[in-house]
Amino acid sequence: MKVERKQSVVLVPFLLQGHLTPMLQLGSILYSQGFSVIVAHTQHNAPNYSNHPEFVFHSMDDGLKGMDMSFPGLKSIYRMNESCKAPLRNYLVRMMEEEEEGDQLACIIYDNIMFFVDDVATQLRLPSIVLRTYSAAYLDSMLTILQQPEKYFPFKDSQLLDPLPELHPLRFKDIPINVVNNTVHAPILDFSRSMSDIGSSVATIWNTMQDLENSLLLSLQEHYKVPFFTLGPFHKMAPMASSTSILEEDNSCIEWLDRQAPNSVLYVSLGSLMRIDDKELIETAWGLVNSDQPFLWVIRPGSVYGFQCAEALPDGFEEMVAERGRIVKWAPQKQVLAHPAVAGFFTHCGWNSTLESILEEVPLICRPFLADQPVNARYLSQIYKVGFELEVMERTVIEKTIRKLMLSEEGKDVKKRVVDMKQNIVAAMQIDGTSHKNLNDLVDFISALPSRLTPPTPVFGAIMSSNHITIKCIIES
Ligand code: UDP
Repeated sequence: MKVERKQSVVLVPFLLQGHLTPMLQLGSILYSQGFSVIVAHTQHNAPNYSNHPEFVFHSMDDGLKGMDMSFPGLKSIYRMNESCKAPLRNYLVRMMEEEEEGDQLACIIYDNIMFFVDDVATQLRLPSIVLRTYSAAYLDSMLTILQQPEKYFPFKDSQLLDPLPELHPLRFKDIPINVVNNTVHAPILDFSRSMSDIGSSVATIWNTMQDLENSLLLSLQEHYKVPFFTLGPFHKMAPMASSTSILEEDNSCIEWLDRQAPNSVLYVSLGSLMRIDDKELIETAWGLVNSDQPFLWVIRPGSVYGFQCAEALPDGFEEMVAERGRIVKWAPQKQVLAHPAVAGFFTHCGWNSTLESILEEVPLICRPFLADQPVNARYLSQIYKVGFELEVMERTVIEKTIRKLMLSEEGKDVKKRVVDMKQNIVAAMQIDGTSHKNLNDLVDFISALPSRLTPPTPVFGAIMSSNHITIKCIIES
């Protein structure tokens, strides 16, 4: 059936896999609601157009050519933010010149690391909306620290495990801001402020669930004073399951999973960006072997410092584990987690991986590194109690934790809780659930936006009712 498309939305994702994926999923959600979707993306890590024939793509010169992007630092992020400004502005100006009645550009939705979009949108008087690709718990803890950094830094080694009561359940070691030698440097604080800021944006979209994080969302909304639309989990709310992978997925691991007993395999993956040293690789390898459990392990090229890929594994490792273990460079993760053979997920706790695991009722072993990962790991292990946190990367500890998750009574309790947690999240996606209602509200909200903002900047107020956000949009012109 041909759907009459309403207005267009322009999406501006950040170039990392964990950010690109939820933005493309949001695009699918909005497309299914009748919007035309245009994705303005960087050249680096450009999405695969053929996976999304329903979108229009526009590539922006990102100024990153020749830069080492194996782990993008502040220099590349700022350069990209500067370089993309003119290409986006010129593209939008052209679009606006060619606009026809009834086919107007409604708004720009941008990842909060693409903070340059605020300048462009303000100049062109276009409404903009920020996408948060992580949990409310992460942003809330970051804001608390940014308000009084001197209260937290520098800290002593002896304080690492001390609790931070105002940030419960976090400890000093879980502080979600890039800490070097127990302190934080001014450029990192500036960057954290930029990404937490929403500039003149008129709303925020979240890939989380209102029922899960209600009180944190309420307190954040009081801070930002714009409507929040929590539509998570995006990967289940999106009607199309197109691949969003930048790397090529090795589907042969699904055939290997087909040969394993139900509920027997540990899936191991540290996401698209994290890197470990060879010592940790070897300890993990022995932990897996000694646990005696089948495993599927993603070792991404470049994910072991100083090595191309998995060459640092102990000699004869693959022969030793034989059919019991399988190593791939990149897996179709959502399919893997949904496979009946998978019983547990050894993860770095990126937010996408976290949601994908919970929605397939797979309990977790948490090995966080930085940013939102320590916050997710603490919530998963201490609040939701659907996983165990690995604090020490030694083979005996790893082996014990795997056996606890896969074989013990405690492991069974964790499994029960993740099943319950999934049920609650699924309820949010039903017709009368919060994510579903918030999506309807978002569609109304975008449809009612003025096509051009007239100064002074509009004031949008939102009232949060007990079970969903009611939007009260006051447009002052
Ligand atoms: N992923 C995948 N195959 C892999 C490893 C990861 O498809 O072998 C996907 C995973 O499904 C998730 C994303 O990569 O959607 C990683 O995002 P996340 O937020 O978990 O972590 P990040 O990579 O941003 O650290």
